[in-house]
Amino acid sequence: MAARQEWSMSDFEIGRYIGEGKFGKVYLAREKQSGYVVALKVIYKAKLEKYRFHSHLRREIEIQHSLNHPNVLRLFTWFHDEERVVLVLEYAARGELYKVLRAAGCFTERTAATYVASLAGALAYCHKKQVIHRDIKPENLLLDIEGRIKIADFGWAARSNAKRHTLCGTIDYLAPEMIEKKAHDYAVDNWTLGILCYEFLYGSPPFEADEQDDTLRRIVRVDLTFPSTPCVSSEAKDLISKLLVKDSSKRLSLEDIMKHPWIKKNAEPSGSCIKQREVKKTKIPGLKSEQKDGSILF
Ligand code: ATP
Ligand code: MG
Repeated sequence: MAARQEWSMSDFEIGRYIGEGKFGKVYLAREKQSGYVVALKVIYKAKLEKYRFHSHLRREIEIQHSLNHPNVLRLFTWFHDEERVVLVLEYAARGELYKVLRAAGCFTERTAATYVASLAGALAYCHKKQVIHRDIKPENLLLDIEGRIKIADFGWAARSNAKRHTLCGTIDYLAPEMIEKKAHDYAVDNWTLGILCYEFLYGSPPFEADEQDDTLRRIVRVDLTFPSTPCVSSEAKDLISKLLVKDSSKRLSLEDIMKHPWIKKNAEPSGSCIKQREVKKTKIPGLKSEQKDGSILF
């Protein structure tokens, strides 16, 4: 689907300010004619130039725009004016998974398995479309109003996050082959799924250490241990152990993740662990009408 370049800011009623990233601000908004709720990511061209980023943006927007999967945050369309590039994104009403996980401490096996299955499905879809180089750590995972997980910020934003690894030291999700600077392929994502599955169940990633160097050493040694609390089933540990394998060719494939007994037993096929009753009660702050799916509009 080609982007409709005629869209402009005047087509939207701007609602609550949601947050700020490296390149701009995110707002809740409603398309005036249809009432569809979206998130607008407003990127200032001046900032892009500062980061020598401009030339990649269009190509990478196009990649995300071409993806249409229930667990990949939709980029409906985009437009630009003199100063800004505006991305019209699917709105993820429940926000960052990271915050939900920190608030909860850890997830139940049902919730963890549902997220892992959803992510495996989304990654299989991306891999089939030969879209690589994603960065699936919790801060790039959002939740929609029904609690379905959405991969956000890959493609163009993954580059900014890659920088952040070195700046702020989020190294827990790096696969051993990346640390050892070996050639790496899609199997990096399978490793990351193992890290996420562990973090969902235990509340923190498996190779955490006070010093970055120790984390890196633990990753390349695959120094994996399972604490005695919280109590996690042996099937879950089995899946994690089959993903956190140093030899990337021996990691469980995405298809085999879906067939794993722990996933089969625990994952909700709908991708949501929230009851409809709860969904109905969820208010979207800053907006009067109910959320509708913008995918029909764009
Ligand atoms: P980066 O610039 O590296 O991507 P970031 O992820 O913090 O950093 P943004 O992606 O610009 O920055 O997002 C800013 C804030 O808005 C974050 O808190 C993010 O969770 C939130 N956000 C972004 N997109 C959406 C969306 N589609 N729906 C709901 N919240 C969103
Ligand atoms: Mg982001």
